[in-house]
Amino acid sequence: MKIEEVKSTTKTQRINAHSHVKGLGLREDGTAEPSSAGLVGQVQAREAGGYLVDLIRTKRMSGRAALFAGPPGTGKTAIALALAQELGSKVPFCPMVGSEVYSSEVKKTEVLMENFRRAIGLRIKEVKEVYEGEVTELTPVETENPMGGYGKTVSHVLIGLRTAKGTKQLKLDPSIYETLQKERVEVGDVIYVEANSGAVKRQGRSDTYATEFDLELMKPKKTEITEKLRLEINKVVDKYIDQGIAELVPGVLFIDEVHMLDIECFTFLHRALESRIAPIVVFATNRGRCVIKGTGDVVSAHGIPRDLLDRLIIVRMQPYGQDEVAQIIRIRAQTEGVKIENDALQELTSIAKRASLRYSVRLLTPSNVVAQQNGNDSVTVEDVKEAADLFMDAKTSAKMLAENPEKYMK
Ligand code: ATP
Repeated sequence: MKIEEVKSTTKTQRINAHSHVKGLGLREDGTAEPSSAGLVGQVQAREAGGYLVDLIRTKRMSGRAALFAGPPGTGKTAIALALAQELGSKVPFCPMVGSEVYSSEVKKTEVLMENFRRAIGLRIKEVKEVYEGEVTELTPVETENPMGGYGKTVSHVLIGLRTAKGTKQLKLDPSIYETLQKERVEVGDVIYVEANSGAVKRQGRSDTYATEFDLELMKPKKTEITEKLRLEINKVVDKYIDQGIAELVPGVLFIDEVHMLDIECFTFLHRALESRIAPIVVFATNRGRCVIKGTGDVVSAHGIPRDLLDRLIIVRMQPYGQDEVAQIIRIRAQTEGVKIENDALQELTSIAKRASLRYSVRLLTPSNVVAQQNGNDSVTVEDVKEAADLFMDAKTSAKMLAENPEKYMK
């Protein structure tokens, strides 16, 4: 029997909850549309996200960090993902949750280090220079035979090319002279010249002259990556960079629930952000003032040490209005292919106010299953209520526990 590797699904699930988000939904001038690209409202944070994208694209953000701070369900994760979408697939985006660092197998700082490295892409480029144009000049340049004998040898060939971007003169290897003669190239012909190898074609063209691909350096592993392996990889990467065939692309490391990190992690992050090449780190938290983990009693805003807070750009999330909540639930229903009646949507909107937006969004699928069982074509208020009775929200559950402590084991 073949035993297959089971991949973690937690990351995909987190992203699935935001599958309706396609970008920040900004206009040309950087201002946010009220509702666009799957995002509704939260205008300031989206515009701030737009600035971050610009800073990242113009490479002015490397080694810096931003913090999205606000109550649960205000779209911190959704906006961070939208930011990643705006950056495009060539810029690595590595999402993680603060609590991921606690593992019995791998050191906390090691988990952070791995994610840090995963958020930095190595782009290897092998771009060959290709010219295409009409031959305006074709001059084999001869020099005296260096051996002092009779006759002359061709030292190089000068080719004038009228290309779409203007006329160019190329100085090519003498071996190309033979090819030119074989191809019977004359002034007036249209040719393709590949400068590095000197390959010439009179017609037809290979499409694959310019290739660019990303090397995935690190795959997530359950064991620690040894320092020795890391140094080996660094050596190879440094060699590629020195040779000019590769470049490092700082991507985005998104750390959700940053208050779950402890002082040891924060110290590591602070140092790592100062290293020569660091990704852009985007933190998110829904906590206000709380104890910094690992310190015992030191309280700080968002549970983040003051010195790290000082170097963050903080983006504040606003609570949603009723209309915005309704619109978000409607978009989610469309994405999940759930047909829903208007008053059922209203019911979910008021549930979101009482419980949380996330709970309401989560309730869509069970409501749909209930609707099917009840033989309804689209979800009705009763279906929503039935689903809400079956699956409790966190606030109600906590209230019940508080009211009946004697019924539960301590
Ligand atoms: P938490 O603090 O609990 O982690 P959060 O601020 O990260 O919450 P999200 O998980 O991003 O909140 O939002 C909850 C759900 O609502 C997600 O499905 C998200 O995609 C959706 N959502 C939140 N804000 C918006 C928005 N402005 N537009 C569209 N969808 C949104």
